[in-house]
Amino acid sequence: MSVLRFEDVSFEYAGSNGELPVKALDHVTFSVEKGEFIGLIGHTGSGKSTMIQHMNGLLRPTSGRVLLMDKDLADGSWTRQQICAHIGLVFQYPEYQLFEETVARDVAFGPNNLGLSEEETDARVKEALRLVGLDYDELKNVSPFELSGGQKRRVAIAGVIAMKPEILILDEPTVGLDPKQIIEVRDLIKNLSKNHTILLSSHILQEVQAVCDRLIIINHGRIVAVDTPENLSKNVLQINKLEMRIRGPKNEILTGLEAIDGVESAELIRVREEGSVDVRLEAGENVDVREAVFDFCSTNNYPILMMKTNEINLEDIFLQVTGEREAKR
Ligand code: ADP
Ligand code: MG
Repeated sequence: MSVLRFEDVSFEYAGSNGELPVKALDHVTFSVEKGEFIGLIGHTGSGKSTMIQHMNGLLRPTSGRVLLMDKDLADGSWTRQQICAHIGLVFQYPEYQLFEETVARDVAFGPNNLGLSEEETDARVKEALRLVGLDYDELKNVSPFELSGGQKRRVAIAGVIAMKPEILILDEPTVGLDPKQIIEVRDLIKNLSKNHTILLSSHILQEVQAVCDRLIIINHGRIVAVDTPENLSKNVLQINKLEMRIRGPKNEILTGLEAIDGVESAELIRVREEGSVDVRLEAGENVDVREAVFDFCSTNNYPILMMKTNEINLEDIFLQVTGEREAKR
């Protein structure tokens, strides 16, 4: 059973002042498994926040269904309290979540709403602040609005984890933070992922690529790719483009490589190690010349010091899948 599932969800914002409605989600289907760390990636305006606000029922699909543990969020199966106890949503703008006079009261807001006892609420507030790395005694009576951006974000996260949700959803949690705060918030999220199912959105691929189990790439309200970062990279691995470092005479190596069946070009990139050459080799599409290259080098006694296929990084893929979509429009 998936903990959260979107089934063919489309959503339109009603157009105001006679404007046309905005189609923000377009037949979105995916599911989140317990314990997973999902990265939701897309350019600004691609629909991330809209999607996320569907995850706790704040927005309801124009068509399709959002299911929390197999039960529809919109058909009365869930009360708001129950949803909040399962799904903790940290908004893109922490200010949306900070409205009490003191940090302690702010973090207590959620657990209070769950109807917990005062002792239990107090314990949870202390625990949550500890988990996000804030000092309870120092900050309990401070107004959240006097805090730095990073601290505000932490208080907002504390308010959510004080409800002990199993799923944590964070919408662009590092936007607006300085580099030091970004690292701190990333570390915090990584830590929280040990005990939570996490969905983290970002318009910056590097932010999620290293930490998530699966990536969902969204563009113009449509999912254009869902897979592990490794598989996404693998799918477009270009075996016909090689980069090599070979020890031996430059000219003989280059002409020898170009003479290999299937090789279209061999060019010198640079000389990194004395007595060796770094070469870029291109073969016809889907032509794998690696073994022929190996044979050539071993026959001539040119040791291969390094050989790698052209690395397309996820950034390229991201741009590719979102760019292709652009071109079709
Ligand atoms: P992201 O979070 O990826 O930046 P959003 O979900 O905020 O994207 O926005 C998706 C699309 O919906 C955009 O075209 C945006 O302009 C539009 N949109 C977002 N919020 C509203 C709203 N309240 N009313 C009308 N259109 C909206
Ligand atoms: Mg957003």
